[in-house]
Amino acid sequence: MEGFRAQADRTARLLQATPGWQAVQALLPDYDSETVEAILREAAAFAVTELAPLNAVSDRQGCRIVDGRVKTPAGFAQAYRRYAEAGWLGMDLPEAHGGQGLPLTLQAACLPLFERGCVSMMMAAGSSRAACHLLAAVAEPALAEEWIGQLLAGEWTATICISEPDAGSDVGRIRTTAAQGSDGLWQINGVKSWISFGDHDLASRIGHCLLARTGKTAGTAGLSLFLVPDRMDGKTNGITVQRIEEKMGLHGSPTCILGFDGARGWLLGEEGRGLHALFHMIELMRLQTGCQGLGLASASADVAEVYAQDRKQGGPADRPPLPIAQHPDVRRQLSLLRRQTEVTRAAILESAARMDLARLSADEAERAQMRDFSAFMLPMIKTFGAEAGFDVSNRAMQVMGAAGYTKEWPVEQHLRDSRVMTIYEGTTGIQAIDFLTRRLWRDQGRGLAVFERLMREGIAAASADCPAAASAAEAALAVFLAMAAELSALQGDPEAALYRAEDYMRCAWAAVTAWMALRLE
Ligand SMILES: Cc1cc2nc3c(=O)[nH]c(=O)nc-3n(C[C@H](O)[C@H](O)[C@H](O)COP(=O)(O)OP(=O)(O)OC[C@H]3O[C@@H](n4cnc5c(N)ncnc54)[C@H](O)[C@@H]3O)c2cc1C
Repeated sequence: MEGFRAQADRTARLLQATPGWQAVQALLPDYDSETVEAILREAAAFAVTELAPLNAVSDRQGCRIVDGRVKTPAGFAQAYRRYAEAGWLGMDLPEAHGGQGLPLTLQAACLPLFERGCVSMMMAAGSSRAACHLLAAVAEPALAEEWIGQLLAGEWTATICISEPDAGSDVGRIRTTAAQGSDGLWQINGVKSWISFGDHDLASRIGHCLLARTGKTAGTAGLSLFLVPDRMDGKTNGITVQRIEEKMGLHGSPTCILGFDGARGWLLGEEGRGLHALFHMIELMRLQTGCQGLGLASASADVAEVYAQDRKQGGPADRPPLPIAQHPDVRRQLSLLRRQTEVTRAAILESAARMDLARLSADEAERAQMRDFSAFMLPMIKTFGAEAGFDVSNRAMQVMGAAGYTKEWPVEQHLRDSRVMTIYEGTTGIQAIDFLTRRLWRDQGRGLAVFERLMREGIAAASADCPAAASAAEAALAVFLAMAAELSALQGDPEAALYRAEDYMRCAWAAVTAWMALRLE
């Protein structure tokens, strides 16, 4: 419990130092510090009692196919139901749709606690929650009302159903087709792969938010979005589980190959605008991926710190050995892993708060700026949140020596579970391409300009109390701006620029890191 509680308290403290959140609080004064602290502590308690007991057991048990259906680890169905019933799933969904209407920032503040509790079970919650937002935005009102109600109750779940054997990063090569039947519904034919919780025993109905090809147009312009349930009118709906993958981690999350053979579904939004509509879901899931990584980084950092106090090695031979935490090299490693964790937390909170402001601010120009800033930050939050999960677990294992490499300690599971996070929801390479070609080139650096303004404000505010960190931030910003100028000038030579896209995004993150570090001083 202690680690979860400490994580909740750290989050509450960091929120107070987050300018974006201060601006949200000015608009929503009900969310004062006491209320926020109470919500975070409640989330920590839920994660400890309901989720954490499932984590190691589900890693060992994994998922199986029995009589053509997926069986998830023991306890998942009950925990999922309790998570939904307690209202966590609909935390930030508007009250008009049956949610609690809390700011996204608070959802993003609580989520790493749940991810730390049991990241594989949370895969089902993540896609179901994002689907609620998608349906609220694009589905016909009656369909939205029925599905959101059932999803929030935990009775039904939803997937994000994009990938196919020949369409991974290259979504435009999707082959699954949809054709409209005489009853107005659409018939789906094809194979989808890698679908998380594509089948399971947590709930009685699964809705797939699925991209399929309608008409002859090639590429993403020919894709439309559908809601395809596994059961229709009380009967099966032409969907079969062909296989579940044997993976390095996330063993409790079934990753399914699904066959669609005339499955019927509803069109969501406009024909030919499927990928555009699905971005309602994808954006939220990218932020969630950052929170997954942060949850596991928080867990591994705590384990390493506690272990380093207990484990005794070294020091003069005629005296009792010292806790390894006292050795300068171990202190350095602990400091690095803690810093990476807390910088990531600060960046996630700031980004989520700006996403709230993009919706809440009374001023249209301000809303537009916050949208640009959020779009600038999201590829980094997704990528470096995911990396924090793996890197911090890796560093924690190094601090722990051989013990960390065994299954007696949770760090090796966190390392395995986090590895995929830079792969799904858009690989690091794809995020970097977005960051360069859309955020810098297409948007003409609008998000970057807002970022620069906000970072300069942060530096100015910190310069009196922590001058060294403020000048380090100034220097990191200057390096990033120089690289941005260089790559802006390289638009005419995309091959050369794309070769450096990931370096460019890492350079931006170095600036974000230096900015966020000012809050940790
Ligand atoms: C555990 C797990 C769960 C998943 N859950 C889901 C899910 O629920 N729903 C779903 O739809 N999918 C899911 N996926 C699939 C996931 O989204 C894809 O794996 C991911 O999009 C990458 O596709 P790929 O694996 O085919 O890699 P590829 O697209 O083959 O990419 C391989 C490498 O090539 C690079 N690359 C590819 N194209 C380009 C390019 N144009 N320019 C530069 N570099 C490029 C990539 O960055 C990557 O490094 C899941 C995957 C896993 C492993």
